Amino acid sequence: MKGPQKPFYKKSMKERHSTLQISASLSDEEIERYKKFGSLGEELSDYFIENSIGVMEVPLGIALNFIVNSREVIVPMAVEESSVVAAASYAAKLARPSGGFFATTSGSIMIAQIQLLNCDDTHGARLKIMEQKDEILTLARNQDPTLESLGGGPCDLQVRILENSDDPMIIVHLLVDTKDAMGANTVNTMAESIAPLLEKITNGQVCLRIISNLADQRLARSRCIIKKQDIGEDTVDGVVRAYQFAKMDPYRAATHNKGIMNGISAVVLATGNDTRAVEAGAHAFAAKSGQYSPLTTWEKNRDGDLIGTIELPLAVGTVGGTVSLHPKAKTNLKILGAETSENLAEIMASVGLAQNFAALRALATEGIQAGHMKLHAKNIAIMAGASSGNLEQIVSRMIAEGNIRLDRAKEIIKELRTF
Ligand code: NAD
Repeated sequence: MKGPQKPFYKKSMKERHSTLQISASLSDEEIERYKKFGSLGEELSDYFIENSIGVMEVPLGIALNFIVNSREVIVPMAVEESSVVAAASYAAKLARPSGGFFATTSGSIMIAQIQLLNCDDTHGARLKIMEQKDEILTLARNQDPTLESLGGGPCDLQVRILENSDDPMIIVHLLVDTKDAMGANTVNTMAESIAPLLEKITNGQVCLRIISNLADQRLARSRCIIKKQDIGEDTVDGVVRAYQFAKMDPYRAATHNKGIMNGISAVVLATGNDTRAVEAGAHAFAAKSGQYSPLTTWEKNRDGDLIGTIELPLAVGTVGGTVSLHPKAKTNLKILGAETSENLAEIMASVGLAQNFAALRALATEGIQAGHMKLHAKNIAIMAGASSGNLEQIVSRMIAEGNIRLDRAKEIIKELRTF
């Protein structure tokens, strides 16, 4: 008699593949695709997540021409969207005559939130917490002696009252300098450790204890100058007008910021950092004033040159999480030459600014599709079944005809076969 089935997560990789092949009716060729684990390897892939069956490949490119704080930087970018790497490199080249990108950060402080409910006297409880700040911080500090030895660790407490709910609640912010780590696990552990003490002090009840991804104490900033003579006065004005449009209209600001994140998320992914954390932080920061706004600004200086700036939270690390474990992420960090999380954030902010300029320049001049056309035509031709032997021919014909469509690509393939 057969025993109970092993749960999927307890199966070996081989067993998972054969179960999946049967359940999803996959061919041998299809299941073979899941057996290549790249530099991550089967063991790490299985270690990182549950029910692992393989890895999902994304192209890795390098953006060139970047100078950040007087240093030449090669920027690895992991992204599936065409034109992103080329656009970043192009914009970085235009910033070079003015010295490239000038970037800073506000530090590496993360916030953990502790939600306290059912306190008898909310305002009194708030002050009682502040009275015992040193004791609370010491308790949190004891959770991570390594961080302490590096000069990091808990540095402040802020206590807020949210009055708008039926039962007012106290929200304690524990501020922690997480140094070169992104810090989510670190601050979550600290938040959990101080929860019982907060309950004792306030006679309340702790509910949530978790990092805030609105990392507004960990901002990265970058600025650049693009010279009028390199892009023309009309383009300078076009980019400024495009920015003003985004400033006034959240529909446009969403796409404006998406373009910025094309660059930033690609570097975040290439370095093994948490793309969702960075995206959440960026968009929450963009909406902080109450109106969703652009993360960059563009204006004209007295000489008529274009001045761009960017400011956003960038909770990224050069150690910890998957950053220290993923072999390719580690090599990508080496390529970047970022020695601290602050260096890394400065580069990422600069890439976001470059990406934004490239998109706004294209939109304000020839439009975005012109640059995309060749790669778009290639994608369509491959989808239609083009091979390496006929790809270039199909692409050139579709571009010449101004007709880049799947049905047309299929027709051309058919025509080529008949010859
Ligand atoms: P981690 O748990 O690996 O902790 C990093 C540790 O590295 C520190 O505690 C410290 O002791 C040690 N360390 C050694 N050298 C250091 C240095 N120079 N600077 C700082 N620390 C140093 O990693 P983490 O950064 O705390 O957590 C990141 C992970 O948490 C990511 O994988 C992320 O996806 C995940 N996460 C995110 C969220 C969220 O964003 N909402 C929630 C939970 C978990």
